[in-house]
Amino acid sequence: MNPSADAPVDRLGRRFADLRISVTDRCNFRCPYCMPREIFGPGYEFLPRDAILSFEEIVRLAAIFGRMGLRKLRLTGGEPTVRAELSTLVRMLRETLPEIDIALTTNGSRLASLAEPLKAAGLDRVTVSLDSIDPEICREMNGVDFPHERVLEGIEAAAAAGLGPIKINAVVKRGVNDEGIVDMARHFRGTGHIVRFIEYMDVGATNGWKLDEVVPAREIIERLEQVEGLEAVQAAYTGEVARRWRWSDGSGEIGVITSVTQPFCGDCTRARLSAEGSLYTCLFASVGHDLRGPLREGADDEELYQRIAGVWTVREDRYSELRAAMTDDLPRLGRVEMSHIGG
Ligand code: SAM
Ligand code: SF4
Ligand code: SF4
Repeated sequence: MNPSADAPVDRLGRRFADLRISVTDRCNFRCPYCMPREIFGPGYEFLPRDAILSFEEIVRLAAIFGRMGLRKLRLTGGEPTVRAELSTLVRMLRETLPEIDIALTTNGSRLASLAEPLKAAGLDRVTVSLDSIDPEICREMNGVDFPHERVLEGIEAAAAAGLGPIKINAVVKRGVNDEGIVDMARHFRGTGHIVRFIEYMDVGATNGWKLDEVVPAREIIERLEQVEGLEAVQAAYTGEVARRWRWSDGSGEIGVITSVTQPFCGDCTRARLSAEGSLYTCLFASVGHDLRGPLREGADDEELYQRIAGVWTVREDRYSELRAAMTDDLPRLGRVEMSHIGG
């Protein structure tokens, strides 16, 4: 969508373009790097239903972001497919924002049955998280013993429904799944699906992140070159998060998300809306800006636009760049969890 003439620019000269909407803080997985079981156990209190934005509220806010130059909208979570009637939300967003690219990030567990209805509702693309093609490592990394064949079925259903090219996100954790990088790349080479290896990040305050568990992008690429030569591909647009590579024999593409070792804050065009309607301007933020309050107290669209634009105008987040410049870990207490605002 073209931004209105007064679309805001943040303090580091960045324009807004991408909105990630978390539609729930709940998830049916317990990936240790995101929602460790010890913290997100049976006694964990998720948001009550009335705290979560309704579909109508989400669509109204999305339309206001449209005025700010929204280009891509991604539904995420928690696990977005555990929210009932997700296709209805997609349909409502599509009707309101006909020209926007609408994508979904999912753990793939429910995609085999949902891919077709989501496509029919107007979804453009999916990104599926799958950390390994080794069944045992997958079960360990999803924390609930979920069989990885069901995720693979979901990926195929999404491709058959026309939701491709499918991106497959794999978080790489040293000593857990890094030995499987090459197998993973081989498995999907030539399928048209794009595997993207993600450097394990220090998001939130609960995953016990340590720098020595991160496998740097450079090392990931070196290992992949054992399979076949790789050539760098130019970014398709400003703000693209993955560094792209192409197999030199033409059998497809892979990506590496280098948030730890080669931060990309300078191009960051992303904002995140949590399930209870708080706006976060950085994945590593501690504080969100409440939009649900004014929305439910009757603010009109212009007031909501001014509030959102005002937050963007004073934005100066560049957490990953600051982390890269520091030798000590940055303080983590109070940081919002990734399951709260989505990846
Ligand atoms: N549940 C959905 C899923 O897993 O695809 C959507 C939400 S999840 C928070 C979004 C993405 O964040 C996933 O691809 C996940 O692998 C990634 N992620 C979660 N914790 C991470 C971490 N500590 N470091 C890097 N990526 C992480
Ligand atoms: Fe759930 Fe996704 Fe987090 Fe895994 S990464 S626990 S699937 S929200
Ligand atoms: Fe954007 Fe924050 Fe990530 Fe930097 S650290 S790229 S500002 S979300």
